Amino acid sequence: MRDAHNYGFSLRSKIIMARIYLDYAATTPVDKSVLDAMLPYFSKNFGNPMSVHSFGQETLEAIDDAREEVAKFLSSSPTEIVFTSGATEANNLAIKGVLRSFYSIVRKENEKPHIITTSIEHHCVLDSCKAAQKDGLAEVTFLPVHKDGIVRLDDLKKAIKPNTIFVSVMYVSNEIGTVQPISEIGKLLSKINSEREEAKLPKILFHTDATQATNYWDCDVTGLGVDLLSFSGHKIYAPKGTGVLYIKKGTAIKRILDGGDQEYKMRGGTHNLTGIVGLGAAVSTLNDAKSKEKVRRQIEKLRDHLIAKILKEIPKSYLNGSKEKRTPNIVNFRFDDVEGEGLLLSLDLEGIAVSTGSACSSGALDPSHVLLALGLRHEQAHGSLRVSIGKHTTKQEVDIFIKKLKETVARLRRISGNVMADFK
Ligand code: PMP
Repeated sequence: MRDAHNYGFSLRSKIIMARIYLDYAATTPVDKSVLDAMLPYFSKNFGNPMSVHSFGQETLEAIDDAREEVAKFLSSSPTEIVFTSGATEANNLAIKGVLRSFYSIVRKENEKPHIITTSIEHHCVLDSCKAAQKDGLAEVTFLPVHKDGIVRLDDLKKAIKPNTIFVSVMYVSNEIGTVQPISEIGKLLSKINSEREEAKLPKILFHTDATQATNYWDCDVTGLGVDLLSFSGHKIYAPKGTGVLYIKKGTAIKRILDGGDQEYKMRGGTHNLTGIVGLGAAVSTLNDAKSKEKVRRQIEKLRDHLIAKILKEIPKSYLNGSKEKRTPNIVNFRFDDVEGEGLLLSLDLEGIAVSTGSACSSGALDPSHVLLALGLRHEQAHGSLRVSIGKHTTKQEVDIFIKKLKETVARLRRISGNVMADFK
């Protein structure tokens, strides 16, 4: 893991200055209302929700309330909600659980299922699929995306085979912020599934990783046409270590964490009581449609200002991914002749937190698989920066960031220009 001391500056000097956080896609702070809801469940109401006595009964009620909130948010039944430790676990459960169910009945030797996903998924989806491929449990197709960062329905249609049983397409990209046509894919798969039923072919289950979508997009599971949907608490102002997998009633899936009977026997392990209560409280904020829309508009306005000003004021700067089909809070820019990593570190010294991609792999110096999937060259992918805003971001912060970014890009370009001149 990265260590701040490796960068050769002291954390103390950074703490003195006012810092600007523009990395909401990595994680969000816990809302005060969320924290307040959680506090009684640390020490006062601490019973194990699976205990039969009254201590357990009162905390089970709190878990049930959180489950009701999540069910309302997804327009599902509470019995279709499974609490997990985050989106990583939810995505692993979706993919591995469906495969485990597939193999729970005796199969013929060459009967291998086929999975389709995209080349821009989060590593927890990509690596689960790659692991299944490596273990000989599934064939996998990684769909390409176009230059705009969007998958095409035609490519998906062409990839479907008689043995396809699972499609996983993320709702919103955590790196470039593009939005995939989930409900269109849901409709297409529903039509294909009715034809397959007549032909006695297996049903294709549809899963979406909605981790970066929950704050701003409609997550009605029927409207989206999904069988499985995952999301995480720490992107919606709830604590880290919390997540959800929605599993449509009747879906062929088996648990991957064996143990107790928690979560309708779909996920063994003592409940993360405080975390689940916090997640429920955060989702209740999202269930207030008016306030969700207000936050969305406020953030969208800031994002448009950010994009317009950066592209206008910084020469040779570009927006990665579609300009239109994007989420309100994530943007990803490319700057010619500048290293994204250098930019990130320089901005950090100025007290500004941005990212070069997913927080889960920001220790790596490999170029982002998402940017390469857009068709960018290695040096272009290395010259990219992700900026993600949230409900506490102000216009003043955005303007300070743009000013510092402009100066930093110019300085780094001067340095790299001088270095190149020295070698001539
Ligand atoms: N999927 C996406 C799209 C994400 O952005 C993230 C978090 N970066 C994850 C999955 C993993 O979520 P968690 O941190 O809750 O495991």
